[in-house]
Amino acid sequence: LDPRLVSARASVLGGRLVLLILRDITEQERLEQVRRDFVANTSHELKTPVGAVILLAEAIESAADDPDQVRDFAARISAEAIRLGQLTRRIMSLSRLQASDGVTETEPVSIDEVVAASIEAHAVQAESAGVELIRGGDRRAFVRGDAQTLIEAVGNLIANAIAYSPAGSRVGAGVKIDGETVEIAISDQGIGIDEADRERIFERFYRADDARSRRTGGTGLGLSIVKHATQRHGGEVRLWSRPGRGSTFTIVLPRIDGPAGQDEKKAKKK
Ligand code: ADP
Repeated sequence: LDPRLVSARASVLGGRLVLLILRDITEQERLEQVRRDFVANTSHELKTPVGAVILLAEAIESAADDPDQVRDFAARISAEAIRLGQLTRRIMSLSRLQASDGVTETEPVSIDEVVAASIEAHAVQAESAGVELIRGGDRRAFVRGDAQTLIEAVGNLIANAIAYSPAGSRVGAGVKIDGETVEIAISDQGIGIDEADRERIFERFYRADDARSRRTGGTGLGLSIVKHATQRHGGEVRLWSRPGRGSTFTIVLPRIDGPAGQDEKKAKKK
C-alpha cells in the first residue's frame, strides 16, 4: 500500500492533517535521498585512494630490484593511506553530526580554550607550510555544547586557512564577543574563494577548482563538518572572501554566562 495513497484518501477527512502528513512524507523522502547520496558519494571517494594503494602495491612487486622506485611507491602508499584515514575520520564525524543524536555533550565550553586547542593542533602544519599562525582577539566566552566537536570545526577552518595560503602569509584565529553571541573568526591571506563557489563549498565533497584543491590532499568534507557542527550548537557560519586576497570564516554561536567560579575550568575533553 503506497503511503501517498493513504494520505491522499485522508484528505476527505481534513485538509490540514493531510497537508501535515504529506509534508512529513516529503521530508522523509528528502532525508532518505540525502542519505543515499551520502553513501554513493562516500563509496566513490573511498574507491580512489583504495585503488591507488592497490596499484602502487602491485608496482612495488614489479619494481623489487630498484630500491629508489620501491621507496617512491612506498612513500606514495603511505600518503594515500594517510588520506584514507583522514577521509574515514571525516566521514564518521559528518555522519555523527547528521544523525539526530549528533551532539550529546551540552557542557559549558570555554571558547578561548577551544581556539587555543585548535591552534595547538595545527602548529606543525603551519610551520611546515611556512605560514604564521597567530592568535587574535582573545576574549573569555562560553557556549553550551561539546568541546571536541567545536575543536574539530575550528581546526578544520584553521587547516584550510593554512592549506589555501602561500608561504610567508599569516593566518589569524580570534574570539570576539558581540552582545549575546560569540564570534570565532579564522582569517587568511590566501587564494580566496570565487563568489560562485561561496555557497557550494559547504556542500559535502564540493571543492572549488578541483585540480588545485586536490593538490592540497583535502577531502571536501571539512566545511560540511564546520557547518553541521555550528548548526548543532544553534549558530551559523559567515564567510567573507576576496579572490587573490584572502578569506575570513566566522563561526557565530549563542553565548552563555561562564560557570560561576570556574573561569579556569578546562574545555572538557573526551
Ligand atoms: P577540502 O578538504 O577540499 O579543503 P573543505 O570542505 O574543507 O574541503 O573545503 C571545500 C573547498 O572550499 C576547498 O576544496 C577549497 O576549494 C575551498 N576552501 C575552503 N577553505 C578555503 C580557504 N580558507 N581559502 C580558499 N579556499 C578555501
